[in-house]
Amino acid sequence: MNNNTPSPIDLLRRHNLNLKKSLGQNLLIDASHLTRIAAAADLEKTDTVLEIGPGLGALTHQLAEQAGRVIAVELDQRLIPILRAEFAGRPHVSFVHGDILELTLPELLGTQLSSPAGPPTATANYKVVANLPYYITSAVLRHVLESLPPPTLAVLLVQQEVAQRMVAQPGAMSMLAVSVQFYACPRALQRIPAGAFLPRPKVDSRVVRLDVRPQPAVSDVEPAHFFSTVRAGFGQRRKQLRNSLSAGLSCTKEQADHWLTASGIDPRRRAETLSLPEWGMLAKTVYGSA
Ligand code: SAM
Repeated sequence: MNNNTPSPIDLLRRHNLNLKKSLGQNLLIDASHLTRIAAAADLEKTDTVLEIGPGLGALTHQLAEQAGRVIAVELDQRLIPILRAEFAGRPHVSFVHGDILELTLPELLGTQLSSPAGPPTATANYKVVANLPYYITSAVLRHVLESLPPPTLAVLLVQQEVAQRMVAQPGAMSMLAVSVQFYACPRALQRIPAGAFLPRPKVDSRVVRLDVRPQPAVSDVEPAHFFSTVRAGFGQRRKQLRNSLSAGLSCTKEQADHWLTASGIDPRRRAETLSLPEWGMLAKTVYGSA
């Protein structure tokens, strides 16, 4: 960003725009944080970046300086002509109007997938960077991490509490932690105070960097089997696993006890204490014996 770049506040005034709470429009207006978010993505001129929700383009300017190509998806139609005009001299930056959850990431990036006969292959190399609208954080995470091919890296600004849940360890695991850590190695980076945003949200945020794993953390079990076991385990979170599994997998407590014991897991443990390899063992026991 240079001195001629209008700030989001200038643009709001110039275009007489109100921010929409319903779209999670809390703009990051502190330039020092924007620089550090872009730096966390280790961008190079060979990189393609997908930005989710560019707003008025403050973060987009930083990404455009460092990446070879930037594609930004914005749901608010009012912002698209403003963004296009602001970036008119930067042909490597393009804006797509749409809902990120309705768009297929690799297609958006013009990636070549494999032939219809074969499975998609990881031919694409792209990174995702976003100051996420809070109301769709979990859905976006799933959408990004389950994309085929997924990005190599995602740098996301999320609520502080969500960042803590993503990096949790056994003892404090949740469905979110297991899902994120299945696909990626998350690291919580800098905290961004609520005062750095316009309007000011109720809580502080944190930057999280997700280094996407080349293979899921548990690769010897079907993801569908893995996640149905995990969902059952967390279905009744405060209960012992023997109870939550029997309810979630519609089996007797004796059957749940048997699966857990055969996986080396004490049936009295609770879902938040299990590690990813333990969930993997359990899923293999449950579905191997089905
Ligand atoms: N990137 C800007 C910044 O850092 O200041 C704006 C971030 S603001 C938290 C989130 C942006 O995401 C808003 O511009 C909002 O309109 C957009 N947005 C909300 N839901 C979206 C969706 N489903 N798909 C794409 N963009 C969305």
